[in-house]
Amino acid sequence: MQDNPQPVLLISGCLLGLPVRYDGGHKQDPFLQEQLAKFFQLRAICPEAEAGYGVPREPMHLEGEPPRLVTNESGREVGELLLTWCNKSMKELRCPPVCGAVLKARSPSCGVSPPSGLFARHLLHHFPGMPVVNSEDIQEDTSLKNFIVQALDYYHSCSSSKG
Ligand code: SF4
Repeated sequence: MQDNPQPVLLISGCLLGLPVRYDGGHKQDPFLQEQLAKFFQLRAICPEAEAGYGVPREPMHLEGEPPRLVTNESGREVGELLLTWCNKSMKELRCPPVCGAVLKARSPSCGVSPPSGLFARHLLHHFPGMPVVNSEDIQEDTSLKNFIVQALDYYHSCSSSKG
């Protein structure tokens, strides 16, 4: 085991250039990737692909409150698969400890701003205090620096609470 492991930061896989979007494309953000990699070990995560919806897949959106995940064209409610995966992944994220998450905005899984995606909701619920942001909200120097400081603070507070 490493003596001083780099803090682990979750990031939506499509932002790292992985071809995991519904259409097989990505939304790579080279600026964030380069800046965040200076401080963190970036851990790509794609809730929809990892839950098993496949690539490509029919696009989905959220409806109602509590939100239901519904396919855009066929109108099928398909959230069960994602909810099962989210519950399982919350346990795995504790080891190694994750210190924050940068997620793709306006995704029914990853989006953070209201309405929050299903995966973002799980993260915020299971890891209160952990910084979780939309990638679009940390494009400016100040907001990016603030996020990095918050994630490192969270990492150190988790490390010290383990004694
Ligand atoms: S926004 Fe999230 S669920 Fe959608 S492709 Fe990107 S990583 Fe996957």
